[in-house]
Amino acid sequence: MYFKDLPGQESSKAYLDGLIKDDRIPHAILFTGPQGNGKLAFALAFAAALLCEEKEGIEVCGVCTHCTKSLKYIHPDLHFSFPVCSKEGKTREKTTSNDFLVEFRSFVKEGIFSGVDAWSRFINAENKAININVTECNQIIKSLGLRKYEGRYKIQLIYGAEYLSKEGNRLLKLIEEPTPDTIIILVSDFQDQILNTIKSRCQIFKIPPFQDEAIDQFLSEKVTDQKQREEMVRLSAGNITLASEIHQNDESDYDEILLNIFRSAYTSNITKMLSLSDRLSNMNKKEMEGFCLYTLHFLKEYMRVLHLQSTDLVRLSGKEKSTALKMTRSITFDMAFLIAELMEQNIGNIHRNANKKILWSSTMFGIEEIFAKNKIAS
Ligand SMILES: [Zn+2]
Repeated sequence: MYFKDLPGQESSKAYLDGLIKDDRIPHAILFTGPQGNGKLAFALAFAAALLCEEKEGIEVCGVCTHCTKSLKYIHPDLHFSFPVCSKEGKTREKTTSNDFLVEFRSFVKEGIFSGVDAWSRFINAENKAININVTECNQIIKSLGLRKYEGRYKIQLIYGAEYLSKEGNRLLKLIEEPTPDTIIILVSDFQDQILNTIKSRCQIFKIPPFQDEAIDQFLSEKVTDQKQREEMVRLSAGNITLASEIHQNDESDYDEILLNIFRSAYTSNITKMLSLSDRLSNMNKKEMEGFCLYTLHFLKEYMRVLHLQSTDLVRLSGKEKSTALKMTRSITFDMAFLIAELMEQNIGNIHRNANKKILWSSTMFGIEEIFAKNKIAS
């Protein structure tokens, strides 16, 4: 990953550019900020820039041996650690990131803008607890203690730093008094969940969400229809992970399904509710999650419509706006909030592999109940 392949985010890029040009590179830096802000891509591009021999700030030459190796994620001075689960034939205690390096390289090449959740799915660890274990921490200490091979720096990138349990405290000395030319780059969506002892020793670099223009640029090669792209930009609200998921689910008709759920729940049409529940149960986990995320986005914007009494400033398509306006007669702010809560619970339950049929039929009845109670109240 090079910075030139990362759309927008000019001010964050300029900051890192300054660090390199002024030779003020911190020994430990934490890339954080909201989900979908490209922090892993930033961290990898920063590592590539540090390693390039012919760089100009964050601009790499792209042709030196360091660049070619960084691009393939095989540079011997760039070490990766990330949360993993046990691997076949090995106990969990003995399993480390090295056992999953091949998978990690493919994951990064395919889904650089995905989060740790997607990584966990990628290694089929959805039902297992992933973490960065004590063996891994010891390995980090050992490998950073070794001489560097080729580059000016030895870099340790820790992706999903919130998965370092208290064993992470073994790394404190390394972070505080690193060996010369050692850089530790931590990446985390959840800054609050990182050990305070570690966080307080890092320079915290918070990256904002992507600008709409950057998301548009990211989607421009994949989606040629400008109007459709505009809608996707609106939906993703600066979250590039969401933008790529919306793109993958482009063929979906989430808006239609959601509208039908509201209609059938409002009229207590049980047959229709169950058929919608069947339809959702037949989706795979990623699609179901996509639907829940879509619903949450829609409801959030719908609540803004209720608040602003207008659809002018909301991130909804033309069709969604007209749906939202019709809904204002039957769905109050409190009802929208309760439905959103149901969807949030669903995301958690989908991750926990809950029974799909039970999950969706209870969601349908839950929404119907919300409508029924409100009718009695009004
Ligand atoms: Zn280079």
